[in-house]
Amino acid sequence: MLYPWQETLWQQWQLLIGQGRLHHAILLTAAKGSGRGALAQHLAQTVLCLNGGNEPCGLCHACQLFEAKTHPDFHWIKPEQEGKQISVEAVRKCNRLAIETSQLGGKRVIFIESADALGEAGANAILKTLEEPPQNCQFILTAQSLDSLLPTIVSRCNKWRLSVPDEAQTKRWVEQQLMQSIKAESVRLNCGAPLATLTFVDQGQDIRHGKLVEAFAAFLQPPHVGLYDVAGLCASEGAISLQWLSFFLLDCIKFQQGAAGYLVHQESATWVEQVARAVPIAVLIRQARQINQLHQQLQKHTGLNSELLIVEWLSTFLKEE
Ligand SMILES: [Zn+2]
Repeated sequence: MLYPWQETLWQQWQLLIGQGRLHHAILLTAAKGSGRGALAQHLAQTVLCLNGGNEPCGLCHACQLFEAKTHPDFHWIKPEQEGKQISVEAVRKCNRLAIETSQLGGKRVIFIESADALGEAGANAILKTLEEPPQNCQFILTAQSLDSLLPTIVSRCNKWRLSVPDEAQTKRWVEQQLMQSIKAESVRLNCGAPLATLTFVDQGQDIRHGKLVEAFAAFLQPPHVGLYDVAGLCASEGAISLQWLSFFLLDCIKFQQGAAGYLVHQESATWVEQVARAVPIAVLIRQARQINQLHQQLQKHTGLNSELLIVEWLSTFLKEE
């Protein structure tokens, strides 16, 4: 299944497939929440389709197996957990699969999802296979950005970038899906990625985000009440809430520097303005840095007592004065 903002890129690939010129290692970079996995799988199904067109036929044996997620020549490598690295063992396995003969006699596709999660050892293990690909083996790699990948991997692939639609289009598309109007800041908080925005609103995170920034803004101004409310809301939402607060602090800095037109927080701009007028810029910058560190820490180590760490971080605001 393809999304509307993927059509242009898909047509370029179709042209190459039709001409038999599709590179053996396609690297697709795109933001999370842009449906890059769906696009990669659409390409995989097309490559595997026994009718050999530039679109999966949906009817042949290969297409049916693919849709049932049981195609024996489609190999999907990804981190076992989000945020974790792809294991070297998984990479070695995919090297073995690359040289085996195809079970259905057609092509084999190896899809490396989140190639930015290949550690150095994993990346080194796959280099040779990427460079001298076995016959009938198609590689598809996806990643957040080229910067997040090792240059040795990038240099061996054919690079493609899937752009997210502009904000207005994303907003309209999500509103069509949900049949309700949404806030502009929901799009910006998700970096304009349509599927991420859709999930954000659909799961009610937009409402919880609004509550959190309201509580956070109240806490940042004298008499600084509600520390445990903010900490509780963050702890129940998870690490993502710290990213929201980071956006919020950056918005306060932007406001102070006269860049109010670029705020992420559109509908919550009142809170941004209040805090920007109450808290000195040096404090905002220092705290924005600290929250980013805390966010990374909580993402990496899932066993930590997040509520306690957030309370400790919030307490530092009280000592700033
Ligand atoms: Zn088919």
